[in-house]
Amino acid sequence: MTAQSNPNNRPMPATAGIGRMLEKWLGAPFKLIEFIGYYIMVLPLRTIMRPLDKLSYKLEGTRLKTVLQHTIFPVTLIATLYIGFEFVDEDTSLENLAVLALLPFAYGIIFGPLERLMPFSRKWLEDENGPTVDIMMYVSGAVWTTLSKLLLVVLSINVIVEMLEPYGHALWPSELPGAVQVMLFLLAKDFFRYWYHRWLHEVPFLWRWHAVHHSVERLYWLNGIRSHPIEIIGQALFYAIPTALFQPEPHIVFIAILMALSIGIFQHSNIDLKLRFWEYIFSIGDNHRYHHYPIKGIGDSNYGGEFIVWDILFGTFHNPKDERPSDTIGIGTAPNYPLTWAGLMIAPFIPDQKRAFGPPPADLEKHELHDPHNAPAE
Ligand SMILES: [Zn+2]
Repeated sequence: MTAQSNPNNRPMPATAGIGRMLEKWLGAPFKLIEFIGYYIMVLPLRTIMRPLDKLSYKLEGTRLKTVLQHTIFPVTLIATLYIGFEFVDEDTSLENLAVLALLPFAYGIIFGPLERLMPFSRKWLEDENGPTVDIMMYVSGAVWTTLSKLLLVVLSINVIVEMLEPYGHALWPSELPGAVQVMLFLLAKDFFRYWYHRWLHEVPFLWRWHAVHHSVERLYWLNGIRSHPIEIIGQALFYAIPTALFQPEPHIVFIAILMALSIGIFQHSNIDLKLRFWEYIFSIGDNHRYHHYPIKGIGDSNYGGEFIVWDILFGTFHNPKDERPSDTIGIGTAPNYPLTWAGLMIAPFIPDQKRAFGPPPADLEKHELHDPHNAPAE
């Protein structure tokens, strides 16, 4: 059983009042892009990849699948480090960093087919026209990044950052091996990601912006990037001063971003991997599936960006042994949350979120865990 795909993402509900009007009039050009994106990208790609479903049933229970389930993650991680150090010289400039912007799509060539071949959830292979919205989010991300740089100047935060950077260079342990520096840089940054992400969940005013990320009803390799601009700008402002104190050489930063991209793909990917002890180090696999649970009590956990060690340390780690997370995800209290690009941009501004996007289904608390592996269709 699979959900029917649809070029029309769920619109803003009528209960959202003026939000629905704004989506209808201001959002019209974006709705057209979604419509075109569905027919020129989403539908053809699904048609090309659907034959892999048959192969995926054949792969069930084979030794090849077991080997792949155990090795895909560590091999990708080591390959990312190796490729990073092999091809990046010490003069890595910001132009090289710009190249990184296109990399997620290169990952898609590998991880898109892998999701079809060994899915965690078959239900997650098809849904609304999410990929078009995710690409729109990704492209518009450049605008928000520029805006956050501008805000750093306007708020004079850049002055403090520039003042601190030389101290950061002096403090950074650049005598350590490159790979250690990469991991250390990610771990240090992740401390701030952990707290920012935790506050996004725990402070009601912040949650309304982060809800955009949690509106997804399936996880797949690309939708980790789905975030509201206010969340992106807030993060840039929040990170600016502490990260001025971590100043490794640019090539270390470049490889760290490459590693973060690889880990990020595994965080949202719909691949049924056997991650075992890796799930106690990195924020991937079932860790993040629990984070997207529709029940907030369970979803308020596993905040780590790349690592999960801060969650273990601060008591927010949730990944019960011998249990598999359900593939029913989303915002349990907001079943009518919009899924159009314009709707997602407007939704956090709606004053009464409960009235606009609720009510939650009565049986939410009775929500049962179930095996996410749907039975083969034949
Ligand atoms: Zn979250």
